[in-house]
Amino acid sequence: MPDKDNKPTFTTNDAGIPVPSESHSLTIGPNGPILLHDHYLIEQMANFNRERIPERQPHAKGGGAFGHFEVTADVSQYTKAAVFQPQTKTDVLIRFSTVAGERGSPDTWRDPRGFAVKFYTSEGNFDLVGNNTPVFFVRDPMKFQHFIRSQKRRVNNNLRDHDMQWDFWTLSPESAHQVTVLMSDRGIPKSWRHMNGYSSHTYMWVNAAAEKFWVKYHFKTNQGIQFLKQDEADKLAGSDGDYHTRDLFEAISRGEHPSWTLHMQIMPFKDAETYRFNPFDLTKVWPHADYPLIKVGNLILNRNPSDYHTEIEQAAFEPNNMVSGTGISPDKMLLARVFSYADAHRARLGVNYKQIPVNKPICPVHNYSKDGLMRMENSSDPIYAPNSKGGPQADSMKNPEVATWETQGEFVRQAYTLRRDDDDFGQAGTLVRKVMDDEARTRLVNNVVGHLKDGVSAPVLERAFEYWKNIDSHIGERIEQAFNKGKGM
Ligand code: NDP
Repeated sequence: MPDKDNKPTFTTNDAGIPVPSESHSLTIGPNGPILLHDHYLIEQMANFNRERIPERQPHAKGGGAFGHFEVTADVSQYTKAAVFQPQTKTDVLIRFSTVAGERGSPDTWRDPRGFAVKFYTSEGNFDLVGNNTPVFFVRDPMKFQHFIRSQKRRVNNNLRDHDMQWDFWTLSPESAHQVTVLMSDRGIPKSWRHMNGYSSHTYMWVNAAAEKFWVKYHFKTNQGIQFLKQDEADKLAGSDGDYHTRDLFEAISRGEHPSWTLHMQIMPFKDAETYRFNPFDLTKVWPHADYPLIKVGNLILNRNPSDYHTEIEQAAFEPNNMVSGTGISPDKMLLARVFSYADAHRARLGVNYKQIPVNKPICPVHNYSKDGLMRMENSSDPIYAPNSKGGPQADSMKNPEVATWETQGEFVRQAYTLRRDDDDFGQAGTLVRKVMDDEARTRLVNNVVGHLKDGVSAPVLERAFEYWKNIDSHIGERIEQAFNKGKGM
């Protein structure tokens, strides 16, 4: 029986039956063999052997917390989504992560950070699965799997390999913008509390009059951007591999609740046709001067998980979770993620992962899905549609299919059609020249040189110098010279 604090006072097996011992197996005499019918021992061994589930591929190492999002402005002219209506308060879960490392890898390795948000809205779950950087390494999903493999481990020795990373990057010039961010101060945040989150992709908003807008989400940290220098991060990787996980948990435990302000960039639907570069290209930002940030509301994290496995490891975020008034865009990477995230969850957690409590919407679910491994509940009969037995019926007015766009053409395998300002290096160069100051540029040079010195082979190295000269001729020269001198400048 639980005691007055609701703490159990004696151990049971998983069937609730009290067990006789935590210390001794059932044997024939004190020195005799173990008996197979010691069911509790068998249950303990069997559970232990099955404790691990497949880790995420990628974004395996992470942590998270719960909180809420509150709308402080009125953006109803752009979206009818209930979650974004004035004063609406919605419970959220955020999971932060690194990308390439495994579940036990250090939090402070240089890597983009995942920033995945689940809003438990009154209209169903709404997920934004973003990063702490506004862009990405590739713009076609055909290259995504190859990119991640180049960041992970080699086949022969199971080691990570900078030669493999630079080989891929320099043969994929569209990576230049994201690689510049990665090698900059933002490549190692001081903590998850001290970084922004970006949807990166362009999404859609639709208002009550069915007018459409292209949008980008920016969660700006209210703790201020802070970063770790490479040597600080290296030391922490050795002394406290879970530094960021610990930081978030301890801050929330102390009552220091981290928060972010959500801002949107909003592009009128028609602008996309004539904008000077492809606004759906994931390797580009929309300059603030063209589409200024519009404040929407505040997101705060104030509750730690009490059970990491069931609440964070089993959390399933999916960019297809778009509620009415929101939608996706023609970004090819996003279109592929809309399939691949749910598929990854089915593979990792099983087909009924949406019935795991952390993934369940707060609104009722009425549908005709049925059975399968680990199903917790089915809807009642009838379990087919159409039916004449009073089962739920799809209602096109509840969530009208308006978050759409028109397109036409032959089936092709081609890059996006180029527009006037579409290139691979321009925005990376702007970041180096116009956004960074002298100290930040010097740290960038040192970070790149340090990375290149770690096993990058001669032909790849030559391409890397060329790649940086394409981003900015001066920074490229500095990197080459510093590399050859054997020290940063
Ligand atoms: P702005 O001068 O308006 O914006 C520059 C932005 O750069 C800042 O607002 C900040 O973003 C961000 N920034 C500062 N340091 C770094 C860094 N080390 N790594 C990455 N981002 C950093 O100019 P534009 O909007 O015209 O953009 C210029 C360049 O800034 C872009 O080419 C892009 O590289 C970068 N940038 C632009 C963003 C955008 O959405 N327009 C977002 C982030 C970066 P924040 O305010 O989000 O912290």
